[in-house]
Formats: sequence, structure tokens, C-alpha cells
Amino acid sequence: MHLDLTDRVVVVTGAARGIGRTIAARFLAEGCRVVALDLAFDTADPTAGDGSAIVEQVVCDVADPASVRAAVDTVVERHGTIDVLVNNAGINVEGTVADLRWDAWRRCMDVNLGGTFLMSQAVAPVMQAAGRGRIINAASFAAIVPSVGSAAYAASKSAVVAFTRVLASELGPWDITVNAYAPGMVPTAMNGFATMPTEAQDRLLDTLSLRRWETPDDVADLLVFVASDAAGYITGTLLDVSGGKLATQIPARAHGR
Ligand code: NAD
Repeated sequence: MHLDLTDRVVVVTGAARGIGRTIAARFLAEGCRVVALDLAFDTADPTAGDGSAIVEQVVCDVADPASVRAAVDTVVERHGTIDVLVNNAGINVEGTVADLRWDAWRRCMDVNLGGTFLMSQAVAPVMQAAGRGRIINAASFAAIVPSVGSAAYAASKSAVVAFTRVLASELGPWDITVNAYAPGMVPTAMNGFATMPTEAQDRLLDTLSLRRWETPDDVADLLVFVASDAAGYITGTLLDVSGGKLATQIPARAHGR
């Protein structure tokens, strides 16, 4: 299948590091004009290392309406349109309901859910004017099967899924698709999976049908497809890219464990 994304204008939030950084680099490699948004950037080379092409960087707090407005205006001034918005920026807030502080709960909702709302609200009119577009929202397997201690995070990601479904219908008349995706377990600074003791890593891996850590490229592969014309009839759904995290209860049995 040939997925031609040449010259599409792609905005990726939370793209200074982690999965978002790889997503941005991947769209760049597909020939897109890519703008990375994040709270801060600590590198002049946001291309995942090769240094041959540059992802544009715009400082933006997706939880701040004025910051979002300014960032979207900047992108439109520079590029005239926005074809693809990836709402990747997110934070993980852990704590049992008994222990969670209100400000931590609020920040989790403000970034994960509020940021997705603010960015989508600012970008949708640009896409409506063009009569096409793709909005792709980071949810999580936690939206479906949460862990103990993840009330704030899981609730925010469940809400992203519901938001996605509503927005998909509201933007359907303009041929704009809106989808969410559920990564499984990608070792990043957010979770520290890769630096956990071996036994803790094994316990987590044992919950995956494929029994390997997910890579940021596993996510980027899906997003390139969703952004392409080939995915034009997929909207309002949660795309599971979790390596089977949501498939069965004890997949480790199939691995002899
Ligand atoms: P990460 O912490 O490595 O990167 C998140 C990025 O978002 C950072 O660069 C951070 O600065 C940025 N960010 C945070 N708050 C922001 C704000 N207010 N405005 C702009 N940028 C902001 O995380 P990651 O593991 O790469 O996760 C990326 C997305 O994928 C998140 O939405 C996360 O919930 C989701 N996800 C990750 C996993 C995983 O296993 N890593 C699993 C499921 C879902």
C-alpha cells in the first residue's frame, strides 16, 4: 500500500521526547511538514538523531487556552493549513483515590483531556475550511482496563475516548476523521518500565499477548496509516495498538509461563 503524505502539515503535541518525538520524526520521514509542540525543547536536533531534516518546534502548554491559540496561529501563519493533529501530549498521575491530591487530579485532567479539547477546538476550524483533516488522540489501554492507583490517568483517557467519538460525529460533515489510539506499554520517561527490577518487568510483560515492550515506532506506524487517505473511512473509534494487552486474561500461558 502506498501511503502518500507528502507536504501534509502535521502538528504533534508533546513531541520533545518519548513517543511524540518519534511520531514527529516519522511524519517528517514521510515527507510531511511537521510542527512539534511541547512545554520546552532541550535539543536542536529533533529528528531522532540523523540531523538531516528539521522538525519545527513551537513552545506550547496544551492546557493553556492562550498558549494553544498562539501556537495554532503560528502554524497556520507559516503553513496556511493543518492537515493532521496528533494530540499526544500527556502526563501520568499516580495515586489511590484516598491519596490523590486535588491539584494533581486537576492537572491530569487539564493536560490529557483539556489539552486534547483545546487543541482540537483550535484546529478544527482550519480543517473545516479545507474540507478535510485527521485528528488523532492518544488514549491508553488504561481507558479500558485501568490499574489500581490510576484513577486520574484512566479517567482522563476514558474521557478522551468519549470526546473522540463525539468530535468524530461533529466533524463528519467536513470529511474530518477523529480517532483515538491505545498504546500498551512503551518504555519512556513517563513510566520507567525499562529500568524496573526484572521481576516487575516480567509481571508486566506477562500481561501482553506479544510479550515484548512496545516501541514508539509501533505507534508511529499506526498513526501514519490513520493520517493517510487509506484510512478515510475510519472515524470515532479507539484503535488498539497494545500488543494484545486488551485481548485475553492470562496470555503468559501461551508463552509457557
Ligand atoms: P513522555 O512523558 O515521555 O512524553 C510526554 C511529552 O508530553 C513530554 O515531552 C512532555 O513535556 C509533554 N507534555 C506534558 N504536558 C504537556 C503540556 N501541558 N503541553 C505540552 N506538552 C506537554 O510520555 P510518552 O510515554 O511518550 O506518552 C505519550 C502519550 O502516549 C501520552 O499521552 C501517554 O498518556 C500516552 N501513552 C503512553 C504509554 C506508554 O507506555 N508510554 C501507554 C499508553 C498511552
